[in-house]
Amino acid sequence: MSLIVQKFGGSSVANAERVMNVAKIVTDTYKKGNSVVVVVSAQGDTTDDLIEKANEINPNASKRERDMLLAAGEQMSIALLAMAIEKLGYPVVSLLGWQAGFETSSAYTSARIKRVNTDRIMKELDKNNIVVVAGFQGLNRYNDVTTLGRGGSDTSAVAIAAAAHADLCQIFTDVEGVYTADPRKVKNAKKLNTISYDEMLELATLGAQVLNNRSVEMAKKYNIELEVLSSMTNAPGTIVKEAVKMEKMLVSGVAKDTNVARISVVGVPDVPGLAFKLFSKLASKGINVDIILQSIGRDGTKDIAFTVAKENGKEAVAIMEDFISVVGGKSVTLSEDVAKISIVGAGMESHAGVATKMFEALFDAQINIQMISTSEIKVSVLINADDADKAVSAIHSKFFD
Ligand code: ADP
Ligand code: ASP
Ligand code: MG
Repeated sequence: MSLIVQKFGGSSVANAERVMNVAKIVTDTYKKGNSVVVVVSAQGDTTDDLIEKANEINPNASKRERDMLLAAGEQMSIALLAMAIEKLGYPVVSLLGWQAGFETSSAYTSARIKRVNTDRIMKELDKNNIVVVAGFQGLNRYNDVTTLGRGGSDTSAVAIAAAAHADLCQIFTDVEGVYTADPRKVKNAKKLNTISYDEMLELATLGAQVLNNRSVEMAKKYNIELEVLSSMTNAPGTIVKEAVKMEKMLVSGVAKDTNVARISVVGVPDVPGLAFKLFSKLASKGINVDIILQSIGRDGTKDIAFTVAKENGKEAVAIMEDFISVVGGKSVTLSEDVAKISIVGAGMESHAGVATKMFEALFDAQINIQMISTSEIKVSVLINADDADKAVSAIHSKFFD
């Protein structure tokens, strides 16, 4: 007998029919003699709708109250799925995050899981119950409900798998696995049979939303093998695991991230310590900087451009305007019409010319590159947002056709 964690995302439980379909998958697993813990997200667009409802009443609502509201989405799903499982005649219990033992940091709307106390889950499994747990939520040290950030229920599932020493963690979604690009955007995207934690982590961080990046980080840390598969078909999915004996794919995928803003700080003094001071200002406000470009100094001045997440764009500009009013500088500009396109592959560290091939694809499509950033397993470029889908297709064709 195995302990299996199965997670179902929003689209997999979007309506009554889908909920019944999930109940069928879960009870089929249970019937085979397995213990099953199920993690579910809010139905369909429920989380977006709840955010809209909050903003209708108070766009400046506190994060505590936002979490109280957002957690309701998953509360609905667990009860509905439990009812569906009851209907099929199987023993089941639904648990909210706190009932399932999720202890988190106190950072409302982006809490981190500190620990999962699995006592209650284990007790319920001992009673032969199927356990249905609300993803995306937990309780902080003030006994307040917290949420883990968008897409967080993947992490809930991996955390249970780690804490309960599960034999298998399956992430069911609305596509058949992890593809070489978003299969909804790129027609000939190919499904990967396996992908390493490191490559999956890069892809997820660089915009492939099929798995939340923190869930991959946690899976790697606790060596939890993940299977990403469809709740709608029976096709085998993608296994995410340690890279041992895996063929190093030159490029395993192309990802797009449109949650980017570019800030240019023009004409700052070309003196030692300037970059340090500039980026310290941003860091002190908790703003993460991604790609950085600095021009060669000329006539005693230089330009520095960098990218941040879109929601930090305006604040970063204000900080930079403040900064140049003190140290000197010409102007600060913000561009929100940008997108970051990346290729990821563990094989590129030992192969020359991968970046060149990507740049050639962009040249062929007449797409201008604004910024470039590379590491041993990825190359990212910043381009005009309007060109993003065209760029992904062009790059994907170059590497995979
Ligand atoms: P869920 O609701 O199940 O959590 P998500 O919407 O969060 O599902 O993630 C699944 C979606 O991720 C797919 O519908 C697909 O459009 C998108 N996606 C983006 N990049 C990829 C990729 N490389 N492989 C598979 N899916 C991807
Ligand atoms: N319902 C939450 C969201 O939409 C969590 C999740 O789906 O993983 O972000
Ligand atoms: Mg998701």
